[in-house]
Amino acid sequence: MPESLITVAYLGAAILFILALGGLKNNESARRGNLYGMIGMIIAVLITIAAFVTNNLEILILVMVLGGTVGFILSRRVQMTQMPELVAILHSLVGLAAVLIGFANFMDPGVEYIGVEKTIHNIEIYIGILIGGLTFTGSVIAYGKLSAILGGKPLMLPARHWLNLAMVIGVVVVGVKFVGAGTHADAFVMLVVMTIIAFIIGAHMVAAIGGADMPVVISMLNSYSGWAAAATGFMLSNDLLIVTGALVGSSGAILSYIMCRAMNRNFISVIAGGFGTGDSTPSAGSGGYDGEVNPIDATETALLLSGAKEVMVIPGYGMAMAQAQHAISELAKSLIASGVNVRFGIHPVAGRMPGHMNVLLAEAHVPYDIVFEMDEVNDDFPKIDVSIVVGANDTVNPSAQDDENSPIAGMPVLEVWKGKTAIVLKRSMAAGYAGVDNPLFVKDNTRMLFGDAKESLDLVLKAL
Ligand code: NDP
Repeated sequence: MPESLITVAYLGAAILFILALGGLKNNESARRGNLYGMIGMIIAVLITIAAFVTNNLEILILVMVLGGTVGFILSRRVQMTQMPELVAILHSLVGLAAVLIGFANFMDPGVEYIGVEKTIHNIEIYIGILIGGLTFTGSVIAYGKLSAILGGKPLMLPARHWLNLAMVIGVVVVGVKFVGAGTHADAFVMLVVMTIIAFIIGAHMVAAIGGADMPVVISMLNSYSGWAAAATGFMLSNDLLIVTGALVGSSGAILSYIMCRAMNRNFISVIAGGFGTGDSTPSAGSGGYDGEVNPIDATETALLLSGAKEVMVIPGYGMAMAQAQHAISELAKSLIASGVNVRFGIHPVAGRMPGHMNVLLAEAHVPYDIVFEMDEVNDDFPKIDVSIVVGANDTVNPSAQDDENSPIAGMPVLEVWKGKTAIVLKRSMAAGYAGVDNPLFVKDNTRMLFGDAKESLDLVLKAL
């Protein structure tokens, strides 16, 4: 295949990837963005196969069909609530691929490198395997924590920062030995030693991060998987892989930064671990509330809503669990039809992944123009007559502002307690993801509508 055709196709694919990322910036254009990404990837894969695969094409096609089928089945089956786990395990595959390609390339580079070129190539292999290795084990641990196979508590080994430092120094020392190794066999041994250290760094790094910081970990691993791909691109001298890896790497890093800001976490501290002591499964909290719980029923809720002018809906993880998005959408439509101004306020880490609530609301056809980010509505609560909190907990917890010892201290929250009345829909007084009590539930202007959120909303709709 002519070199110029490959360049043009790769350039086209790279532009489509950039358009894909641009499309993901809002709900309306997200589908189009995904489509651009898919077309770009199809072009990239087909051109790469046509241009570079010279033998074993049948095996390649067979494994692609097998892998594609498994991916297709998994993506059809996965629940929205399991999406972070899926993303984590997919990142682990990117990391593992980078490790395997690195070793394959080391054993058979295809081209004879000599002198400086050989050194540069070896460094590319080393970095590719290093980032791939830590992405692999880090993602596996993240998967274990998110799917509750492992506990969400951070692993706080004594002198863990020293341990990290020792491992980083070890990687550099082994790297110098690898590049200067006299024989291929010696270099291979160094590569294996570094891979083992990289596996330990990845596992240790993510194990030290607590449940409440897992969203940041996911996007950080997303970023690492991008850099692993970019390093592999350098190793294989493949421009498109470099560009694509850099796009994933940098957008993941930016997302991690945005999420850290949303949770009021210091990015470096999150990476160093130890924050977010919550378990990945909702725990009971202490349950010792100073105040009285004021329950409400569906009929009374309907009465309050029909008398309101301004209503704010705050969805959270419980909405996803109850699959209550369609019911809340119906309720919102019915209120809007009777002249109530209804808006949705979305916390950046509501649910279990960035954009979780937006996806569910879009699925239930909630108009985009009544869905707002937290910062756009947080000052409006004093004017809100009724806030309906649908299965949200940590993201509306006033102790983030009032209690500096709280594990979620400093995390920005939706200030629903500043409105006239907040109605909280949940099944019990249990804590949310971070495992902390929520004093909102016992405030004078809060009413608790206990029960499954979908069932409660259906009853409210009926009563309306
Ligand atoms: P929370 O996880 O804090 O709380 C969810 C609440 O939903 C629970 O208290 C639970 O109470 C209730 N619930 C569960 N099932 C139902 C049901 N069927 N009907 C009604 N209520 C139900 O949710 P938030 O969205 O407020 O906060 C998200 C948390 O997750 C934050 O701590 C965030 O840091 C973390 N996180 C976010 C990620 C992201 O990227 N968005 C990723 C990973 C973690 P009860 O059992 O009493 O019903």
